[in-house]
Amino acid sequence: MELTTLKEFQKIYPTGFDSISFDVVGYCVAKCKYCPSGNDLSHAGSFISEVKYAAILAKLKKYGFYTKSTGFHIYGLGEPSLHPKLNEILKITHKMGFTTNYSTNIIRVPKIDKEGLKAVKHVIISMPGFSQESYDKIHGFKFDLMIKNIKKLKKIFKNIPFDMSYHIYQFNLHEIEIAKKFCDENNIRFALNYAVMFDKNRCLDYVHNRIPYDELKNISKELLLSVLDNQIKIAPKNYCDFQERYLSINVDGDIRICNSYTKNYEKNILCGNILTDDIDKIIKLKFSHPKCKVCKAAGLSIGKIYDCKVYPDFYYSLMKENSYINEALKNSNFNKNKLSNEIKLMHQIRVWEKEHYSNKELNKMRSLIKLMHVPTKKIENIAKKYCRFPEVTWKKLLKYI
Ligand code: SF4
Repeated sequence: MELTTLKEFQKIYPTGFDSISFDVVGYCVAKCKYCPSGNDLSHAGSFISEVKYAAILAKLKKYGFYTKSTGFHIYGLGEPSLHPKLNEILKITHKMGFTTNYSTNIIRVPKIDKEGLKAVKHVIISMPGFSQESYDKIHGFKFDLMIKNIKKLKKIFKNIPFDMSYHIYQFNLHEIEIAKKFCDENNIRFALNYAVMFDKNRCLDYVHNRIPYDELKNISKELLLSVLDNQIKIAPKNYCDFQERYLSINVDGDIRICNSYTKNYEKNILCGNILTDDIDKIIKLKFSHPKCKVCKAAGLSIGKIYDCKVYPDFYYSLMKENSYINEALKNSNFNKNKLSNEIKLMHQIRVWEKEHYSNKELNKMRSLIKLMHVPTKKIENIAKKYCRFPEVTWKKLLKYI
């Protein structure tokens, strides 16, 4: 939608953006070759000041970009743990009525006190595998140090949801099992996702066959390029969820169209500074940026979350099924037939989610519920604990049970 003013934005989206990603640090020290900020220390040492940070948060509220339903992230392309005053940043976050997610490559374990912790809603550690060999290929860090840092970080954030985001490459498939075991032993949620070519300009080169043969050959040995191909196949050619529902802000307070470009290229995708520029002009450019038109036409935009292909659905379905069975086994008088029915229903609800809550899948689900007499309490448990979008799905389900 080509919005042209703040007023229009506020009318159409009274709950603000779905997600805001705000770099409090302007660089990253990891060497990830498929990330736009990997191997780029040209902005080393750039951090946001506390004063500027607070001023930007105030603007986000004033414009209605941030509301209680917005997911807020103090990172985009920069590594937040490198901020020398991270604790102060978090304290400001809390004081100004925000909560944030904290994603880190665990190169540094920051000192966070009780007040700082109040701002953190969710912690995510990102891993390129679970061995020194995998780390040598991507992040370039010492694996032993990472393990020590994860344990230290877990102690700091002990009462906060804590995920390991494990990026799947071809070379680390055999390390998935041991990584999952480590997570289970350390009370960490294990979240698998495919590593992708993150830089949209590289993706454009891929689409237009401009990547030199030898380079493409190397890429094809590391990434699962079929994930990108599938994404391109189903991408909406007239919509991008990043453009429409996400706000990306760099360490200077400039609004970018998204986080998918290198620092070098960034000047071409800025829409204006949130502190100093006219907000209507920023909105207009963000919602009609020429680079987005090129990206969408090439099939590189991102659809609604249901269409994001970076999550291996088969894995999550199996994992959910396993944990449902494990949960049931704790009850000594469980009924095998009932359990099997509940699992069938769980899979059907997940298909319904995947198919954009379509009527076709809804009808199948309703027939199952009717046929199997699954009690409402059980259905609620399935929706809230074993589906991909618990809140949305349960809300929708309530209309039919
Ligand atoms: S259309 Fe492409 S460039 Fe524009 S916001 Fe979406 S992903 Fe980024």
